[in-house]
This record gives sequence, C-alpha cells and structure tokens, in this order.
Amino acid sequence: RVKEKWAATRPKFPPTKLALQHFDATYSVQLGKLWPSVRVALLSERKYGALLNNFSHDGVLEDLQAQGCRDFISDKAEEAQPCLELSSEVESRRDCMSTNKSADNSQQLSSLQFSPNIKCLVFPRGDITRFKPAKPDTYGLLGYYLMDAASLLPCLALDVQEGHTVLDLCAAPGGKTLALHQMQIVRFLCVNDTSVSRTLRLKRVLHSYTPKELLTVEKLRITSFDGTKWGEIESNTFDRVLVDVPCTTDRHSVMEDDNNIFSKSRIGERRRLPQLQLELLLAGIEAACPGGEILYSTCTLSQSQNLAVVEQAIHLARQNHGIHLQVVGLRHLTQMFRNTFHFAPDLHLGEMVIPHLAANFGPIYMCKLKRLT
Ligand code: SAM
Repeated sequence: RVKEKWAATRPKFPPTKLALQHFDATYSVQLGKLWPSVRVALLSERKYGALLNNFSHDGVLEDLQAQGCRDFISDKAEEAQPCLELSSEVESRRDCMSTNKSADNSQQLSSLQFSPNIKCLVFPRGDITRFKPAKPDTYGLLGYYLMDAASLLPCLALDVQEGHTVLDLCAAPGGKTLALHQMQIVRFLCVNDTSVSRTLRLKRVLHSYTPKELLTVEKLRITSFDGTKWGEIESNTFDRVLVDVPCTTDRHSVMEDDNNIFSKSRIGERRRLPQLQLELLLAGIEAACPGGEILYSTCTLSQSQNLAVVEQAIHLARQNHGIHLQVVGLRHLTQMFRNTFHFAPDLHLGEMVIPHLAANFGPIYMCKLKRLT
C-alpha cells in the first residue's frame, strides 16, 4: 500500500499508468483475445536467462545445471532437424498467405547453425527461481550475464558465420554485443551507440566478461556516432548488421516510472520513434554489403514500430537507394525454440516473442532482411 503522505505528491497519471492506457487501447485491437494474458505477464516479474561466459574459468555451467537450469540453445539445436522439415512447410504456406505487398514476395528460409560457444541457461517453464548475481572468477571475469533470454534470438537469427564482419548499430548496454562476441567467430565486430554514457557502460560490460587480449582494435571497434548517418560513413561493408533500435520498451514502460518514455516531457521523443527506427534501419541496410543480412529488432509489441517500419524501409531502400531486399523467414527458429518462448501467431512479417506467465520473456520483435543488390 502507498503511504498517505506520498500519495498526495504522486502524479495523478504516472507514466506507467499512461503507458498501460496506451497499450490497452492499441494492443487490445492488435492482439485481440491474446492481450489480457500478455498484459498480466507484462505486469508480472520477468524471467531471465544466464548468458554463460566462455572465458570464465570456474565450473559455472555445472553449477547452474545442478540448480535445475538448462542451456536452451544447445538443447534445441540438437533436436532441430524434424523442426526444420516442419518449418519449411509452415513457411511456404505462410508465403502464400502473405498480405505484405511492399516486401519482396519471395521469402527465403535461412538454415541456421549456431556457434557451439554460445550458451544461455534458463530455469524450466513455470519455474520462477531467480538467478543469483554472477561472481568474478580468479581473473576477475564474471561467470554469466543476466538478460532476457529472448534478447538472444536476434543474435542467433543473425546467423553469424566464421570470418564475418558484423556491425551492431545500437549496441548499449551491450547484452547482444556480448553474445556476438562470445560466439568467437566474428572476424571484426564494430559496436556503436550514440549515447556516450551508455557506450561507457557497454565497455565496462565487455571488460567484465572478456580477457583484455581479445579486445584489440584489430577485432573490435567501439564508437558513439549517430547511427542514422552510418550509410554516409561506411556503406556496402558488413556481412551482418544488427539494428536493435530504441523503442517504447513496453515492459519497462508499464513497470518503472523512472526514465519512462511515456512521461509527459517525452511525448515528442515517443512520437518520433518510428521515424528514428526507420532511419536507423535504412542506415543499417546501407551499411551491409550486397548479399549481407540485416536483423531489425525491438522490445515492443507495437505494429507501428515493428512491421510498419520494416515495410517502409524495404520500400524506401529500393526507391531511394536502388537496394533490393528479400525477407528471410525465421519460422524454423520459432519452431526450434517453441518450448522455451511464446511466439505471436500469424505475423505476416518477422517473428515476435510475447510475454506469457509460464515463460515470461520478451516482448522481442525481429525481422531479417537480405540485401540482393
Ligand atoms: N542492443 C542493446 C543491447 O542488447 O544491450 C540494446 C539497445 S537499446 C534497445 C537501443 C539503443 O539505441 C540505446 O542504447 C540508445 O542509446 C541507442 N540509440 C538511440 N538513438 C541512436 C542513434 N541515432 N544511433 C545509434 N544509437 C542510438
């Protein structure tokens, strides 16, 4: 219960309340009968995954397994084959049903092979045990990084292969950067975030998990540029580009009044989000090499920040830059991880993890594009 004294000074409409009102209005239409259960999950404690630090020397994996956790990535990668067959069928049916006119109609189904170096431990479905904070090993490196396990899916979907050059355009605080780095197959990782303070946080994260000798300038570059300008700085360059844009961060917006994008002073910033997201995605598309792949991701359920941004980017990349793109289907990824995450049914573009009380991860939206020209 809120104390009387505080209640008098509390704003009548705190940002969390405004966020929930906004989501009730838009998501009840967008998600229909799914919204009440997603709403309850969004308002409940989220679930974490522990991204294992391969460079840590203690028996962290064994310790977490003894507590009842399992690595959701390697468990599913081993069982992948039957899922792949099933997913091809689903994907081709989905292509036929696709209502997306601006995307290239021929969706490609990528086949994914994950680096054996990436491991993320989760407690079983319905088990809401919390992870203890990670401890440093004898070299001072932390054993694992706690993050929403669904945030790893964009990194897995990016399908980074040995020798690739990768750009992480909006990288701070660095969970996905860390995951990409843990794979140990990237030839050159370029990490950027416009916020200097958040970039400093990202550097601290990398140093807490990685031996110094692996953070050399030949392998890693960290910058704080405005990502929307990246196409002008370095175009047609990277094999893979991750565009993990700023968004309404739905879970944070309904739970925390601090730093909330629904606060009255940030109305303009919130309204400008789809345009910023579009400019970042277009810059990421330009930064990729022809044949390269781009992964767009958010942590919102909002159609106007997800599908609508991707549709517009596909259209504008062709119209303004002569870049033709193909949507790469990710249905086999959702099939592979369907026992760990809940995915939204019937999205015509991209895939989305939706929060669920038994597996309270997400929301995470992701859509993969391949540059044909
Ligand atoms: N990928 C990060 C991770 O996994 O930890 C989370 C990224 S967060 C969703 C979005 C980031 O975009 C924020 O850190 C924000 O500072 C950054 N950002 C906002 N505008 C940007 C811009 N114009 N260029 C580059 N980064 C930007």
